[in-house]
Amino acid sequence: MTTTISPLIAGNWKMNCLRGLLDELTALAGMLTTGEAPRAIVVICPPATILSEVAQLGAIAGIQAGGQDCHAQAHGAHTGDISAGMLADAGAQYVIVGHSERRADHGEIDAQVLAKAEAAIGAGLKPIVCVGETEAQRDSGEAETVVAAQLAASVPDAAGQHEVIVAYEPIWAIGTGRTPTVQDITHMHAAIRQQLTARFAEKGLTMRILYGGSLKPQNARKILAVENVNGGLVGGASLLAKDFYTIISSV
Ligand code: PEP
Repeated sequence: MTTTISPLIAGNWKMNCLRGLLDELTALAGMLTTGEAPRAIVVICPPATILSEVAQLGAIAGIQAGGQDCHAQAHGAHTGDISAGMLADAGAQYVIVGHSERRADHGEIDAQVLAKAEAAIGAGLKPIVCVGETEAQRDSGEAETVVAAQLAASVPDAAGQHEVIVAYEPIWAIGTGRTPTVQDITHMHAAIRQQLTARFAEKGLTMRILYGGSLKPQNARKILAVENVNGGLVGGASLLAKDFYTIISSV
């Protein structure tokens, strides 16, 4: 991990949680306040239905809240959508944009992800912009080219002045229990760092690059120690306080 960048661990609860999961948040808050102080910024991105509760409950333990997506427009006739300003109003400080599940389920393309990231910045949120290749793209040796193109087209120019986080999430590693090798993660994160510094100069050196994809208590220490891995985006293992706490403590 690059030592000058404070690490960030974000939990993506996806479409999994009824109010009962708030008990896990209370348990996590207890662990974070009674145990050794975490060396990472901790963020939970719950479903929007419980975002304000997560923001309020989490605040006690310094846990910050984030949305899982936002609309590119600030308001208007978009039934069922949520704007970045609404997330901020509910207590969010971050928002995930361009998650591969949204790119796949909703056909989101880079231009839309870019517009969402810009909307997030406009509303005072820090966007977590997700990029990552499919298994076929990795097998055919295109992983770095694909990720470079996504980065170029989905990270806004405003990242030069505002906080934008990049999450490298190989699609084939999400929810599968499989992860790239440490060597592959090292190469990809170095390539992303190089691209960010080429585009944003000094600022690119300080932007967080998270790893996501089957990050678990068992592999967190090894993956989070890789150079240019400045934290993680965690799906399944963020649902259980004990597992998520172990990952946070691995930093
Ligand atoms: C994710 O969906 O962002 C993710 C990383 O999921 P998992 O940790 O379950 O692979």
